[in-house]
Amino acid sequence: MTTHYEVRGDIAVIQLDNPPVNGLNHASRKGVVDGLKRANASAKVRAIVITGTDKVFSGGADIREFNTPAMLAEPSLLQVIDAVEASAKPVIAAINGVCMGGGLELALGCQYRIATENASLGLPEVKLGLLPGAGGTQRLPRAIGVEKALQMITTGDPIGAEEALKYGLVERIVPNTTFQGVIDFAHEVAERSRHPRLRDKTVDLPPGVDAAAFFADARKRVAAQAKGLTAPLKCVDAVEAAVLRPFAEGMQLERSLFIELLNGTESKALRHAFFAERAAAKIPDVPEDTPTRTIKTAAVVGFGTMGGGIAMCFANAGIPVRVLEMKQEALDRGLATCRRNWEASAKKGKLTLAQVEQRIALLKPTLRYEDLADADIVIEAVYEDMQVKQEVFRTLDRVMKQGAILATNTSTLDVDAIAAVTRRPQDVIGTHFFSPANVMRLLEVVRGAKTGKDVLATVMQLAKRIKKVAVVSGVCDGFIGNRMVEQYGRQSLLLLEEGASPQQIDGALQAFGMAMGPFAMGDLAGLDIGYAIRKRRRVERPNMYYPAIADRVVEAGRLGQKTGKGWYRYEPGSRTPLVDPEVEAMIDAYRRELGIMPRAISDAEIVERCIYALVNEGARILEEGIALRASDIDIVYLTGYGFPLAKGGPMFYAESIIGLPKVIERMREFASNPRAAPDFWQPAKLLVDCAASGKRLDQR
Ligand code: NAD
Repeated sequence: MTTHYEVRGDIAVIQLDNPPVNGLNHASRKGVVDGLKRANASAKVRAIVITGTDKVFSGGADIREFNTPAMLAEPSLLQVIDAVEASAKPVIAAINGVCMGGGLELALGCQYRIATENASLGLPEVKLGLLPGAGGTQRLPRAIGVEKALQMITTGDPIGAEEALKYGLVERIVPNTTFQGVIDFAHEVAERSRHPRLRDKTVDLPPGVDAAAFFADARKRVAAQAKGLTAPLKCVDAVEAAVLRPFAEGMQLERSLFIELLNGTESKALRHAFFAERAAAKIPDVPEDTPTRTIKTAAVVGFGTMGGGIAMCFANAGIPVRVLEMKQEALDRGLATCRRNWEASAKKGKLTLAQVEQRIALLKPTLRYEDLADADIVIEAVYEDMQVKQEVFRTLDRVMKQGAILATNTSTLDVDAIAAVTRRPQDVIGTHFFSPANVMRLLEVVRGAKTGKDVLATVMQLAKRIKKVAVVSGVCDGFIGNRMVEQYGRQSLLLLEEGASPQQIDGALQAFGMAMGPFAMGDLAGLDIGYAIRKRRRVERPNMYYPAIADRVVEAGRLGQKTGKGWYRYEPGSRTPLVDPEVEAMIDAYRRELGIMPRAISDAEIVERCIYALVNEGARILEEGIALRASDIDIVYLTGYGFPLAKGGPMFYAESIIGLPKVIERMREFASNPRAAPDFWQPAKLLVDCAASGKRLDQR
């Protein structure tokens, strides 16, 4: 039974009971309609209450029913809400906790709404690239006014009971300890002569405001925050209809916009990302009940760019953290940077000054390793140098208490070789944060050959506590993200060599949706990083072709933003990349020397070559078992590399938007380009196999 029907005196109570979130599956929908019929047919009943269980009213649609016939079985949610609204006896939504999406739409169909103090009400559909499709866009503005409704629907963020009361979304707040408040309210409304229906109301704009100007302004505001997504703007269209058109027409528009979004790639990509993020937390051979170690305190070795950000993550989560440096000046500098970052958040109103001080107080600077000994986890973030790191780990092995987790933030070095200098390789793991570590959500968790399962499980759990999205990677050069980005960067240099300019390449990829193009990104990170990698590659993999123009730029003293010039030039104090004729001249001279006649390259070719370079390397990473699933790779790119959310990540894009056969066909065409690097366009076997069999990458 997913609903219960009960009559208390003269009040009928329909209780939703479909754990865990009272999703409105077919049985629940039918249960509500049947309950309404019984209550209306009973001479005894004077009012009807719909409520939930425990701390949940309803979380909306039942995701377990997605893409099953039950999802389409009648009564649909729209029909249920119509039945509620048409009930001759008044219906009260007693919102006893979480009330989201279809749950709130159901409540909006009721003639009355009341809530308990712990209630949380919202229409989060936009977060999955959708809009509320069961009347939410039409009834919410009628309930709380157009401005607040626009905000709730376009952001998807919920409000609490107090705010719901203030805006008139609920009529009363009742205690959640007893049901008597609900029954009393039901008796009260049963006495009223008229029962309001939201569909009969009109939505007014604030006095003196012109509708066209109001919505033009709303669209501008929403677009500025939409990150290239279309769903938030469709939400504005639907809310506008609530103001300008009769209810039935508004409902029709809502339906057609909903279906358009549901079938579009953007929502598919967002839903993919939603499930991918949850899947990333699961490790097949490390079950959820794997015992974990307790983490109460942390330590960070190296208080530079990354160490500072990592220490902030711990302090933000309320975890005390010792930070160790070689010199007092470095400790002072690190502390000052953390303070500056927190104070900047306080200025934006995200923290109070008291919170800033609390966080600073959680940072415990030291110059002595002995002071770290009791920490439950220590993260090393010193220079990227194997000897230096091994020395640090020898010391940690000596001083740290038994059972402490020893983690390294290395971006390229072999975690197993670091673990090998300790007597406890089972306690060693990689935690690869992204810069700025206190901001970026991604954490690549690098599982060494000997990393203990309990250590892995503990770090995955800790990642959640410090608000990171953790993705497991095996040990390889660059792990998942940087190993792929190297091929992407290489492809961008090959495009440059053939005729495209840095600004054209960056522009094309930004138009595709990347947060930044590869040349601007290189300037931001520092071009010396790539320079060092290329130098290493020439020794390790002499057949890997790299256009030498990249080295020339660095050798001319252009290291990127930190030197005021790189692929672009920068005005002092500005981060805006400006086209630099000096670089253009260097590129021209370079092409002349190689005898390359620059050709016009389309933006479409730029995007295909750079993105498919990611896809091909991603597929190899999957083949080798470095990544557990294609969707993990997507999460790495969505949360760590500015890949457009609307495209779902590189693997989803290749598989579900373009299609693998087409991707492979293009790779083969690129291979026939005389200037293609010989090793580049051999499609990964996994791609070829999946394209041939029609299997999904994750079902291989
Ligand atoms: P950084 O130079 O800003 O900081 C390194 C700090 O470590 C310095 O403050 C230095 O004084 C300190 N240090 C060096 N040797 C030490 C020792 N033996 N004991 C104690 N302290 C020592 O470097 P960073 O950018 O923060 O990088 C640190 C690590 O993080 C590197 O392994 C790097 O590859 C990795 N990483 C960097 C980034 C990035 O974008 N900067 C991203 C991910 C990972």
